[in-house]
Amino acid sequence: MTALRDILLRRIALDGPMSVAEYMTLCLLHPEHGYYTTRDPLGARGDFTTAPEISQMFGEMLGLWVAQVWMDQGAPAPFTLAELGPGRGTLMADALRATRSVPGFHEALRLHLVEASPVLRAAQAAALGGFAPVFHDSPVDLPDQPLFLIANEFFDALPVRQFQRKGLGWAERMVGATDGRLVMGLAPPAPLTALDHRMRDTVEDQIVETCAPARPVIEAIAQRIAAHGGAALIVDYGDWRSRGDTLQALRQHAYDDPLAHPGRADLTAHVDFEALALAAAPLRAAPLTPQGVFLERLGMSARADALAQGLSGARLESHIAAYRRLTHPQEMGQLFKVLGLAPVSAPELPGLA
Ligand code: SAH
Repeated sequence: MTALRDILLRRIALDGPMSVAEYMTLCLLHPEHGYYTTRDPLGARGDFTTAPEISQMFGEMLGLWVAQVWMDQGAPAPFTLAELGPGRGTLMADALRATRSVPGFHEALRLHLVEASPVLRAAQAAALGGFAPVFHDSPVDLPDQPLFLIANEFFDALPVRQFQRKGLGWAERMVGATDGRLVMGLAPPAPLTALDHRMRDTVEDQIVETCAPARPVIEAIAQRIAAHGGAALIVDYGDWRSRGDTLQALRQHAYDDPLAHPGRADLTAHVDFEALALAAAPLRAAPLTPQGVFLERLGMSARADALAQGLSGARLESHIAAYRRLTHPQEMGQLFKVLGLAPVSAPELPGLA
């Protein structure tokens, strides 16, 4: 029995069942027992791994993408280089190393990191200390100047509500309790205007998910990019429209029941990229592109070849496996998508045309 499970059960006893979003928020960010509050979840000894932890090539490619877009927009100085949920800071460290020789880029950038976890903030400060990063709880606090922003596996950590279609209404899935155990239940169906557009592409009993906290995040970013220039690159798993129950728990690199280990497993849901693109108006969203296609277009195979020259034996094999993992359609290449956002007047975004 974990401390957090006790807290959840007590709360349900007092207030009744809670939404999946409330459950996710408490599991991930509870100040004392939250998953991200208490640990570094990444790597072999953690619960999951991410593209930048798989190979340095990922951060290098994204860094060169940002530098190219920055040059395409006339190399504004100063500008904000921001990342949402930077994990261990690995992606940004690789991006900054890869862009060292881009004239003026490092001199013009001001590094801003949006991070909720104190544990990961410490790791990011250690990895990126030379660039004096400024930390924020929310992108609402980013400065008013040109903004070039990266987010890898950030939006999947934001809490979703789940609704099951029932006739002309929607029944919300709720986390309740039976015999001292957390169980999933359904609230009575009710009409929901916000899901009117999903009546056309769903059938009875199908589940759709909404992610309310994504909207203010995107709006804060879009407002700065629209006013001052810049671009955002959002990489995550999901699709143009989310469909079905995608709530997922990962613990020690294996799938887990999302209710089994509150605060001790990572919880995510697929990203609904259409909702992000709509919230980003007046920015233009480039066509949603699979990660594998995007990385190939940026020239990652040439970078992989160059790195392979210096390797042999087990290190060469693991390099080849990492390349395959990031790009192959049966690995991360197809499930992960890339959404690029930029002002309508800006040149087309590299790799996303
Ligand atoms: N981008 C990194 C880490 C992905 S894990 C990588 O690719 O390796 C998700 C990251 O988002 C973590 O850094 C986590 O602490 C952060 N995070 C999750 N929810 C957040 C929130 N609501 N606000 C700010 N950061 C959050």
